[in-house]
Amino acid sequence: MVVPFYDLLKLNKSIQIPLAEAFSRVIDSGQFILGKELEYFETEFAAYCGVKHCIGVANGLEALTLLLHAYKIRPGDEVIVPANTFIATWHAVSQCGAIPVPVEPCKNTFNIDPQQISKAITAKTRAIIPVHLYGQPADMDLLNQIAKQHGLIVIEDAAQAHGAFYKNRSVGGLGDAAATSFYPGKNLGALGDGGGILTNNDQIAEHVRRLRNYGSKSKYIHEIVGGNSRLDEMQAAFLRVKLAFLDEWNQKRNHIAQKYSSSLKEPDIGLPSVSEYSRSSWHQYVIKTCHRSELQRHLAQMGVSTLIHYPIAPYQQECYPNYDAADFPITNELSAQVLSLPISPGLSDEEVEYVISAIQNFYRHR
Ligand SMILES: *Cc1c(COP(=O)(O)O)cnc(C)c1O
Repeated sequence: MVVPFYDLLKLNKSIQIPLAEAFSRVIDSGQFILGKELEYFETEFAAYCGVKHCIGVANGLEALTLLLHAYKIRPGDEVIVPANTFIATWHAVSQCGAIPVPVEPCKNTFNIDPQQISKAITAKTRAIIPVHLYGQPADMDLLNQIAKQHGLIVIEDAAQAHGAFYKNRSVGGLGDAAATSFYPGKNLGALGDGGGILTNNDQIAEHVRRLRNYGSKSKYIHEIVGGNSRLDEMQAAFLRVKLAFLDEWNQKRNHIAQKYSSSLKEPDIGLPSVSEYSRSSWHQYVIKTCHRSELQRHLAQMGVSTLIHYPIAPYQQECYPNYDAADFPITNELSAQVLSLPISPGLSDEEVEYVISAIQNFYRHR
């Protein structure tokens, strides 16, 4: 049996007819930038997240960067970010000339540890970017409370958490604003690049709408200097099709996660923990093991693809030379031990059971 890590081909094939209809609709409209499809998608996704405004942009990194600009984050400002995240969270801060200040994750949730945030705050701190890593919402109540005490802006990085909930509230509306990505491999993914900004703040919404389009609200009138960062009509139309399947596909991910969690009992395996008040979107199912490379090799031999999210922490990258490994023991442990199992919504029960038995087989023969 061959179990791909993420079977995007199969998923897209399963909705090929509505995708093709969306394609034709856009062709027939003759509009490709800032048209009706984007307007409808923005309205539909904002409603889905229970947030007032959604602004479609070019990708997830741009969503974060434009928000930081809108909140006037300047060179020399400090922004608190998770030590353990995808590099985009840090790059957005650096793109504004600001300094990413990493905070260690909680050992069990992989997410930024609110208890560690206070001691990272200085006179230069302006904002916190919590990431709902692997689809698991970060502990927002405590984080928001700390932000409020210090007058800091909270920007959620919700790129991995479409459809996730924290205490009965959808991610995307848990801070001042949120950035998300519609990269093809995300839970809600386009057929190309895409991103979105979510906020209940009218002024910020208005501001990022201008920033994404040459600082312009109406054609050829430019009040501020902006960029070109728009979600195009074709991707918006595809995303509208896919949004209708998001809950169903997230339920399938949840089903697979439950199967893994109830079957993998090996003492060497650390299972992902879920806080009882949150609903994960299960973007990734990430285990910890001290025998990662052997297990990964064994699974590959059995036809099961796995990935590592992430093998090298942002602070260890060449582009960030000014951080000290001794400050990040938990992040270092995660980089060395995490392994992501296949959790594609298209996986059959047989395939999931095959992955489980392949893992059990590894430990039986060690
Ligand atoms: C994917 C991702 C992004 C960036 O999204 P792009 O659309 O690829 O720019 C940002 N943050 C996190 C946590 C992500 O997983």
